[in-house]
Amino acid sequence: MRLVLVGPPGAGKGTQAQYIASNLSIPKISTGDIFRANVSGGTELGKLAKEYMDRGDLVPDEVTIAMVRDRLSEDDAQDGFLLDGFPRNVPQAEILKKMLAEFGVALDIVLELVVDEDEVVRRLAGRRTCSQCGRIWHVDFDDKKDDVCDACGGSLYQRDDDKEETVRRRLEVYQEQTAPLITFYADEEILVGVDAAGPVEEVTGRAMEALAPYIG
Ligand SMILES: [Zn+2]
Repeated sequence: MRLVLVGPPGAGKGTQAQYIASNLSIPKISTGDIFRANVSGGTELGKLAKEYMDRGDLVPDEVTIAMVRDRLSEDDAQDGFLLDGFPRNVPQAEILKKMLAEFGVALDIVLELVVDEDEVVRRLAGRRTCSQCGRIWHVDFDDKKDDVCDACGGSLYQRDDDKEETVRRRLEVYQEQTAPLITFYADEEILVGVDAAGPVEEVTGRAMEALAPYIG
């Protein structure tokens, strides 16, 4: 199975990517992992990417695409893969389609984690981080009434990333960038949405159910 996983920040995409890939016995390929592997492995593409990153510039699309192509050419990706973090936009989706066609294959499915915005805000904005041990607590899920870490007694604070206005802005940016990609895959008739609310195992269960008809 060749699949792409998309989902907004706070939908637990990284965790789901891992579980779904492991359930399907396919490699999880995230752009973050590919970048790190190329940079630490000192590949030509890694060196090139590092030059941009060291200058504080964005790594150009061509470099990312070349890294994805290399990764998809590896042995373990020949019988399937789960892509996480790529493609990010319609031009990248078109390039991926062409690239896979050259390999003689195609995407089977694009799985979209669907969440309610207010649910994401509740999930992220309720997080409190321990200033001493770094452990994360949740005001609702851990029934945290005080601002004290139960593990070490340190004081808890809300990270800037978890502030409601930051979360809402990230969601807006995501919707803006991803909406055209979702439309693209809906038009290709390979888009499947999965409700990503609730406990991790339940979401994985729903994802596997949604994928079942496509598992050959
Ligand atoms: Zn602590």
